Amino acid sequence: MLYQSTRGAEKGVSASLAILKGLASDGGLFVPEELPKFDGPVESFKGLSYQETAYRVMKAFLTDFTEEELRHCIDSAYDEKFDTKEIAPLVKKDNAYFLELFHGRTIAFKDMALSILPHLMVTSAKKNGVEDKIVILTATSGDTGKAAMAGFQDVPGTEIIVFYPKDGVSRFQELQMRTQKGANTHVSAIVGNFDDAQTGVKQIFGDQAFKEELKKQGIILSSANSINIGRLVPQVAYYVYAYAQLLSSGEIQDGEEINVCVPTGNFGNILAAKLAKEMGLPIAKLICASNENRVLTDFFKEGIYDKNRKFILTSSPSMDILVSSNLERLIYLSASRDAEKTASLMKELSDSGKYSITEDMKNFMNDFYGGYAEEDQVFACIREMKEKAGYVIDPHTAVAKAVYDQYRKESGDERKTVIASTASPFKFAPVVMKALGEEVENIDVFDLISKLSEIASVKEPAAVQEVKTAEIRHNTVCEIPDLEKTVADFLK
Ligand SMILES: *Cc1c(COP(=O)(O)O)cnc(C)c1O
Repeated sequence: MLYQSTRGAEKGVSASLAILKGLASDGGLFVPEELPKFDGPVESFKGLSYQETAYRVMKAFLTDFTEEELRHCIDSAYDEKFDTKEIAPLVKKDNAYFLELFHGRTIAFKDMALSILPHLMVTSAKKNGVEDKIVILTATSGDTGKAAMAGFQDVPGTEIIVFYPKDGVSRFQELQMRTQKGANTHVSAIVGNFDDAQTGVKQIFGDQAFKEELKKQGIILSSANSINIGRLVPQVAYYVYAYAQLLSSGEIQDGEEINVCVPTGNFGNILAAKLAKEMGLPIAKLICASNENRVLTDFFKEGIYDKNRKFILTSSPSMDILVSSNLERLIYLSASRDAEKTASLMKELSDSGKYSITEDMKNFMNDFYGGYAEEDQVFACIREMKEKAGYVIDPHTAVAKAVYDQYRKESGDERKTVIASTASPFKFAPVVMKALGEEVENIDVFDLISKLSEIASVKEPAAVQEVKTAEIRHNTVCEIPDLEKTVADFLK
């Protein structure tokens, strides 16, 4: 299986090289030259462990990895770092099945991919004769940075540097990052907002002289961005695993079609579901749920992508996004792999913030349904789920549940539906407690978490306990012009 760029300049790239590169040289995204199929009937996944499922799914995409290499990556990622042996349990609540993707170290779904990415990268480096140390450089608005650090922590041959906006993350998120363990992890607050941090990091990636200087020291820079196929491919596995769980518990018959509903930001998670479907997983509808930043809802309804609108800060910050990078892969596939067409649409997007797709492309996306939830619906959904089902969900998952209810009402489609549950409610305790009608003003976040634990009758996750008691290890704060110097200092 070889990979090609959605913009045409690169072809015949091995999986391991695509993982090392992240982005293609023309700015495009890597896509398999042919989408792989299951190596047996879907029923054969019934009863397999998460690790075995991941192996069978991932080996179809990462064909230049040996069995030993791939199993090593999988076993190093999905181990006791997760607080349940099932890794991604499926629970039935109200009218849906919640696929809990938040049992990893940072209690959000990014752990599913970021716990394995470091191992895939190190293996890819070895395979390609790269002996340099891989240094991951990331700007974060909160969640990705922590999940990336937790994933790369003490992985030999790697080091990670994270920049976050000093006043732009929640207190809990800041503590999560500043207490990060590992001899190879570095964190710095920057004086500025997330865009400043992101722009600063991009400038470092573009600074050839600086990169050559690092290269002399045996260092190459890389990113843990969600467009890397090393993040996308591991995500395909849990949809297959969810289906197998439905089969095992007798909720569905062999071959029965299900829907999936995914709270969407950068379009990585739902694209993984689409890839699972292309492999042969019986999925009927892919329900793409957005918050008030409803670019994708409008896109699926009208066939026009238009990011020229106000950016809204919501209670589901990981979905506050106006440009969903991974959508480019769907655009490319829908255009029958016309790289020229894809490149020209992406150019329109960067020039004017807008593009429209053809009727044929729109038809190709018929299995997607776009919907969005407003803030008051999200709050009501959290409250209702607690009242009806005794189940407390986080704001991102609540966006998905609210959109699913809308879809079901509108369409009358009664197929069993899996909702990707992307964060633990404990990660967003202030919002969740407010939705449940509790007093939150001027109350310490750890007190809110304890109270939530009582109300939900769910034990506080170990990840919370850890942040509460761990020592603060990172105190660096830097100004934007000093970003590069800070990186150099960290690497001394
Ligand atoms: C990143 C994230 C999302 C969005 O996922 P995409 O793959 O970017 O669409 C949703 N929920 C949570 C909690 C996240 O961290």
